[in-house]
Amino acid sequence: MTKIGFIGLGTMGGPMAANIIKGGHKVKGFDISEKLINAHVANDGIAANSPSDAANDCDFLFTMLPNSEHVKQVLFDKNGAVETLKNSAIVIDMSTIHPLETDDIRSKLNDNNVSMIDCPIGRTSVEARLGKSLLMLGGEKNDIIKATPILNLIGDTLKDCGGPGMGSRMKIVNNYMTTVLNVLSGEALTLARAVGLDQETCIDVLSGTAAVKSHLTTTYPTKVLNNDVTPAFMVKLALKDLGIAVDLGKKVNTDLDLGRASIETYKHAMKEGREEQDWTSIFLSLQNRAGLSLPDSIKK
Ligand code: NAD
Repeated sequence: MTKIGFIGLGTMGGPMAANIIKGGHKVKGFDISEKLINAHVANDGIAANSPSDAANDCDFLFTMLPNSEHVKQVLFDKNGAVETLKNSAIVIDMSTIHPLETDDIRSKLNDNNVSMIDCPIGRTSVEARLGKSLLMLGGEKNDIIKATPILNLIGDTLKDCGGPGMGSRMKIVNNYMTTVLNVLSGEALTLARAVGLDQETCIDVLSGTAAVKSHLTTTYPTKVLNNDVTPAFMVKLALKDLGIAVDLGKKVNTDLDLGRASIETYKHAMKEGREEQDWTSIFLSLQNRAGLSLPDSIKK
């Protein structure tokens, strides 16, 4: 039986700890909420009275906390986990935190001869309860292999993101995209409503184009990711349409924040001479601005 410590028994952590217990393991849980510790005990978990108690003699210590300051607190403050963690233990941090904080925490744990996997979670508490989370793993291969039987009790989709810190980075890229798409979806439906379109019709039409199917799975693979920026749809025409949308929005009292910001992005690409390239060449322009190298064949 593997011994697990689990700190942070909230919306996500509570059901995850319960699923590890169901998998036949001993889980010593800690949370600052007594109510949540009681719920953990009701699920056949063991109550810990501090982070160091939860970590004592465990093989894996999970943390599922709001932000990096809470993770640092439970690991490194007085009565923190490092006081009792054995050298062979692996800390698995599932909290969504700044990747540079992840690097700092890993480095401090390594100074204490403890290794770490960053393992933020995709999907929500609905899937967490079902043991069907998506796990974005950042760690040494051997540690990930050791942890996999336990991780399989939490998630049905384990993604090795390519080394220490990469899980945390992947999560932020994922959440950047989903949080911005949330705003974009709201803006599009607001514009639709303001100009009198029926919402259901609108969603039906958008579902048949890159608007909903997504650029990453439709336009990008055939064009820019295929090193081909010959125009399927030109940058200058995309900018023209975007301008019309933002102007139409103004006329119906709908301020399209993302639309206005995106006009600037397209204008940058135009300044680089990409006006007659495929609209996916926006990706090249953005990489250029970030100082990243581009494939020779489509450098421009
Ligand atoms: P939550 O607030 O429900 O749970 C966090 C728990 O940490 C709480 O029970 C709180 O009491 C406990 N806690 C805080 N400080 C503590 C400390 N010092 N010692 C011990 N326990 C402490 O939040 P959540 O929804 O479970 O989210 C946890 C993390 O997972 C966050 O980083 C969040 O961004 C991320 N996340 C959440 C979801 C979701 O759908 N809820 C999905 C993916 C990722």
